Amino acid sequence: MPEPTNYTVCPRCECPRLEHVHSSPVPGVWDVLQCARCLYMWRTSEPARRTRREACPEGFRLREEDLAAAVETPAVPPLRGTL
Ligand SMILES: [Zn+2]
Repeated sequence: MPEPTNYTVCPRCECPRLEHVHSSPVPGVWDVLQCARCLYMWRTSEPARRTRREACPEGFRLREEDLAAAVETPAVPPLRGTL
């Protein structure tokens, strides 16, 4: 597993501004990081396709112009009740 310090850019939008959100209860196992631009958040122990820009699927990647054109955040739908 890569060390958290190896993370230099957001896997989704390639922004270098990453914020450390949380660490594993056992020190050094994983960290939760968040991108300051697109707000994508991930745990460093997740698969490379979720944590590494070079392994991130093309359809999941964002570019700066994509973010500038994203004018609306989808609303969270109401709860469906007890299942
Ligand atoms: Zn991002």
